[in-house]
Amino acid sequence: MVNSCCAISCRLGYKDEDEPPDVMLHRFPEDASVKAAWVKAISRDDWEPAPHSRLCSLHFVASDYVKETRDTNQTRQKEKSGGLKRKILKKDAVPSQFPNIPKYFSHAMPQQRSTAALSTSRLAREMESLQVATKAFLSADKIQSLGWLKDQLQKETLPSSTNVKMESSGNCLNIFGLSHAENDGLMVSYNIQISSTLHYCLFLDGNSLPQAEISHILNNDTFTTVSQVINAVAFMNNKASQENTADEHIELGIQHLGVARSKGQETVLFVGAT
Ligand SMILES: [Zn+2]
Repeated sequence: MVNSCCAISCRLGYKDEDEPPDVMLHRFPEDASVKAAWVKAISRDDWEPAPHSRLCSLHFVASDYVKETRDTNQTRQKEKSGGLKRKILKKDAVPSQFPNIPKYFSHAMPQQRSTAALSTSRLAREMESLQVATKAFLSADKIQSLGWLKDQLQKETLPSSTNVKMESSGNCLNIFGLSHAENDGLMVSYNIQISSTLHYCLFLDGNSLPQAEISHILNNDTFTTVSQVINAVAFMNNKASQENTADEHIELGIQHLGVARSKGQETVLFVGAT
């Protein structure tokens, strides 16, 4: 049997509380809009009344009731302790008395909800504009052609020793990292070759570098974005500036040969700038 009230902090019906006299427990109204108004007034988070849920009369004011006048059965009225005092809740009555709910809870709640709704829609708007910006950025970043890539790279702040050259046939783009040789001449310390299909090869001091070296930038042998190329340039520039001892050079060369062989690739030898 239902004997408790669903309002927050209303202890009516619990055994350790003295029930005030003449307190009634009301079913939730059938009318959906009145029912929704009740739920809103009750202000319980993520809560929907169950079929057995009841709200007690402590949450209503006198004007929410009508005196029962239609019931002329005197016996029944006498059976009720209140007799003629029996009240019927108006069909459109909405509870308004929640003295035990902290003020911030009962009054701030509807406002909080609208603020939450507002921030949700604001968040949605921000997400949307972020997506638009991301989309715009990604499409701006996507390599359209080798010629376009060359233009983009020349707009970027690449290391000062970098030289971007395109083959006259236009089907290969070379990015050279230059350094001063012992006789003060310039030598190519690294080279990134990009074909018209955006397939790339990396060379460091004339040795082919396996693509795995830049697996932190991309996972295959084809560039798709300007960012990847710029990151690869930065990586190669950094790698070229690290001074390797002769032993390390030999070790590196052997390592790369081994990698190339194990992949069944032809060993590519770099023969300098074009
Ligand atoms: Zn109650």
